[in-house]
Amino acid sequence: MHVLIVGAGPGGLTLAACLAQKGIRSTIIEKFPANRAAGYSIGLHLNGWGVMERLGLIDQFKARAMPLGPAHYRDVRGRKLFSYDYQVLADVAGGRILAILRQDVQSILADAVRETSQIRYSTTVSTIKEVAGGVDVTFDDGVSETFDIVVGADGYRSSVRRLAFGPHEEFLRPLGYRAAAWRIKLDRPLNASFVGMMDVDLQGGLYDIGDGTAATLFCWRDASLDRVEPAARLPMLKRHFGTWPDPVAFALDADIDWNLAFFDTISQIEMTSWSKGRIVLLGDSAWCLTFLSGQGTSTALAGAYVLAQELSTKGFSEAFEAYEARMRPVTTRMQAVSKKIGGQYVPGSQLGIRLQSWILPIMLSRPFAGLMSKRFMAPKIDLGR
Ligand SMILES: Cc1cc2nc3c(=O)[nH]c(=O)nc-3n(C[C@H](O)[C@H](O)[C@H](O)COP(=O)(O)OP(=O)(O)OC[C@H]3O[C@@H](n4cnc5c(N)ncnc54)[C@H](O)[C@@H]3O)c2cc1C
Repeated sequence: MHVLIVGAGPGGLTLAACLAQKGIRSTIIEKFPANRAAGYSIGLHLNGWGVMERLGLIDQFKARAMPLGPAHYRDVRGRKLFSYDYQVLADVAGGRILAILRQDVQSILADAVRETSQIRYSTTVSTIKEVAGGVDVTFDDGVSETFDIVVGADGYRSSVRRLAFGPHEEFLRPLGYRAAAWRIKLDRPLNASFVGMMDVDLQGGLYDIGDGTAATLFCWRDASLDRVEPAARLPMLKRHFGTWPDPVAFALDADIDWNLAFFDTISQIEMTSWSKGRIVLLGDSAWCLTFLSGQGTSTALAGAYVLAQELSTKGFSEAFEAYEARMRPVTTRMQAVSKKIGGQYVPGSQLGIRLQSWILPIMLSRPFAGLMSKRFMAPKIDLGR
C-alpha cells in the first residue's frame, strides 16, 4: 500500500511515522519549504504524549520543552490581575504535559521519518481524482501519480478537503475571534512562563521559550472572516493593542515576518464524515479544535496513530470507519469545550475580567486543578496495544 499524506504538520508526520512502524509506505508533500520556523508554542498533553512514547520520541520532546512556571496576567495599565502556575497543571497530569515550539515538533518528527518516508517540500496538490483501485493526484508542478490512499493532513484550510469534499465555507464554523502569533528576541527575561494582558474583547501575551526568545499570542473578538493582507496585519494589531505597555508594546515593535507568523480567524471544522472513498482527513483539516482547546496537536497525533493502526489490520473503508468511530467522541466533546472557552479566554466585559481574575487562580490551584483538567482536557483516547 502506498499512502500520500498531504501536509507535513504534526498530524501528517506522525501518521508517516506510525505507518512506517506497521510497514506501510508513505510519501508526504508540504507546501512550504523545509520546516518553516512557525513561531508559536503548542502544548503536548496526555493523548499526544502516549503516541510519542510509543514512537520512542518522548525524550526528544522533553529535551526541547519550554520551562513550565508561573503565568501572570495584568490589565492594560500593567496592574496585576491574577497568576497561576503551569507546573500545578503538569503535576495534576502526572508530569505528562509539556510546552514546545511547533517547529521543534516538526523537526523531531521529520527526522524520525527521514529514512522511511519521502518528504517533498514546496509541493502541493492541484487535482485529486479517485479511479478504479486508487487515487490519481496531480501536483502543482504538473506531475501525476497514483496512490492507494490520500490523507489530507493539511490543516484547517485544507486543499484536500476543498478538492474532494467541497468549499471551505461548507465546513468552517467561525468562533468570532482572530489570532496572531510570532516569535521575538527578548531584551530581558520574562521571569515567568507567560506574561499576558487583558482588556474587554482582547488578550495578548508572551510565552518564555527559555533561550532568550518568546512566542507571542494575541487574540481578539472579530466577527469578520475577511483575509487581512500582510501589510495590514500590524496596523490591525496596533489598533487593538497599540496603547498597551510592555511586554506587549515590545512585542509589537519587533520586526515581524508575516510569512512566518500566524495570523488568521479562529474557526472549527465540522463535517459529517471525514472520508470519501479512498480519501480521508486527519487533524485540523477534519476537526480543527482551535488553539482555544489546547488539545489540537495531541488529538491530531492520536488520530494519526489510530488511523495507521486501523489501516494495518483492515481494508481502507472499514479502517476509515473504525478510525472515525474511535476519534469522533473526543473531537465532538473538545469542540463543545473550545466554543465555551472563547468567552473566558477573551472576556466581553470588565465584569467578566474581574470574575476571571477571581475564579481562575482558585480553579487552577492545587486542590481544584484536577477538576479543571477533567472538565477542559481531552479524555484519554484508547490507543490499543
Ligand atoms: C497560535 C496557535 C497556538 C496553538 N496552541 C496550541 C496548543 O497550545 N496546544 C495544542 O494542542 N494545539 C495548539 N494549536 C493548534 C495546533 O497547532 C493544531 O491543532 C495542530 O498543529 C494540528 O496539526 P495538523 O498536522 O492537523 O495541522 P497543521 O498543524 O495545520 O499542519 C498542516 C500542514 O499542512 C501544510 N499544508 C497546508 N496546505 C497544504 C497544501 N495545500 N499542500 C501541502 N501542504 C499543505 C501546512 O503548511 C502544515 O505544515 C495552536 C495553534 C495556533 C495557530
